Amino acid sequence: MSSSRESGSAVPENQPEIVHPADADEVAAAVRRAVEEGRPVIVRGGGHGFWKPAPGALTIDVRALASIEVGEETERGRLVRVGTGALWGEVAAALAPHGVAISSGDTASVGVGGLAVGGGIGLLVRDRGLAVDQLRGAQVVTADGRVVEASAAENAELFWAIRGGGGNFGIVTRLDFEAAPLAGVLAGELTVDGDQAALLRVVRDTLATAPRELTVTYMDVPAMDPSAPAGARLAVVWAGTDEAALEPVLQPITAVEGVGGEVARTAYADALSTMPHDVDDPVPPMLSVNGLFAELDDALIDRLVAFRRAHAGSVVFLRSLGGAYGDVADDATAFPARAATWFVMAVAFDFPGMLDDRERETARTELEAIAQGRLAAYTNFADPASNPDPAVFYAPQVWSRLRALKAQWDPRNLFSGNHNIPPAG
Ligand SMILES: Cc1cc2nc3c(=O)[nH]c(=O)nc-3n(C[C@H](O)[C@H](O)[C@H](O)COP(=O)(O)OP(=O)(O)OC[C@H]3O[C@@H](n4cnc5c(N)ncnc54)[C@H](O)[C@@H]3O)c2cc1C
Repeated sequence: MSSSRESGSAVPENQPEIVHPADADEVAAAVRRAVEEGRPVIVRGGGHGFWKPAPGALTIDVRALASIEVGEETERGRLVRVGTGALWGEVAAALAPHGVAISSGDTASVGVGGLAVGGGIGLLVRDRGLAVDQLRGAQVVTADGRVVEASAAENAELFWAIRGGGGNFGIVTRLDFEAAPLAGVLAGELTVDGDQAALLRVVRDTLATAPRELTVTYMDVPAMDPSAPAGARLAVVWAGTDEAALEPVLQPITAVEGVGGEVARTAYADALSTMPHDVDDPVPPMLSVNGLFAELDDALIDRLVAFRRAHAGSVVFLRSLGGAYGDVADDATAFPARAATWFVMAVAFDFPGMLDDRERETARTELEAIAQGRLAAYTNFADPASNPDPAVFYAPQVWSRLRALKAQWDPRNLFSGNHNIPPAG
């Protein structure tokens, strides 16, 4: 196992130390070392998250655990065993020749483990559910440095907790997914000029009755957002290649004035965003809120559109849910709010000199209003400064169950570089 301290000779004590284990046993050895040295652990995979290597902590970078093994046929597809250091774009590309896919996220460079432990809302979420809904088992390195298996048959409560509980319960080293067949998708980004509130009402009403093959993502971002080109647009993905089936479903949206662009047949792997990413990139400073909502009502749409208009450096982002996402029972995984039909997020960037105190306060008030009525917030998009209380991510009974499991699996809170669930007791 290489370490930034070993390979770069002496890394000063005030610099972060990063180790790069090659397999689960080396991950376990690194965890035992952190325990012996009394240091907190930060886990890094794709590096898109909010917790970065820090002096004093031991950062365990799992990127080398990147194997992707396509295994036996199952009732619904193929079993796929994925090292959690793999990136979702690598997984999609490896599965394409086998004619199967896992719905994960929308960006190729996001890490398998980081996305999956939070849930994973992807381009096919209405067709296949969350990334964790396709999971059948996992391998986890625990806080006492053991390598254990978790599934419905073995360590079932741990398996429940890692499906939405964030990185709180151990370092997940392998995930076993059931990948369902997918010959291709119809995908494209529609530009959406004009009255955004009117458009969003049509999108909402269309999705209320649309077949689950259709998943859409709306985003309106400023030029300074590193994640996408500036402007408002609607990303459309249809699970399958039957254009005649999609056309009438999409018609109410394409008929709206100001909507343009094409949806075309493509491989699922090519529908993922390929924005460049460096694991050392800092996360932009921001004020943010997100929520899983039972309904996208007119008042919420109006608040979102007004917020985007009021702040030049703001982002508004919506994803359709329902379909397979809602087929899963609320207590089947730690992920909250299966009754939600929309995921909503609003961000105001807060780069130095951008907002004065009054604007910051106004933005905070508006964000609070946007969050009103949400069923829960979603960990993976929640910046920790704006979301200091992790209880917002879970229903009360799930929160208690997670805290009890944290006390069982990580009583000294070694894994605290996350939306941290305090051990019960
Ligand atoms: C550009 C962009 C696009 C995104 N798109 C989506 C999307 O479409 N859908 C969606 O749901 N989310 C999306 N996200 C959010 C993303 O899921 C989270 O940021 C996720 O945590 C990133 O994982 P990572 O491995 O890349 O990051 P990392 O920074 O490496 O990890 C993030 C955190 O996850 C935990 N973690 C990582 N690996 C493990 C592991 N092996 N075991 C246990 N814990 C672990 C740790 O707490 C770590 O701090 C996106 C984020 C960005 C920046």
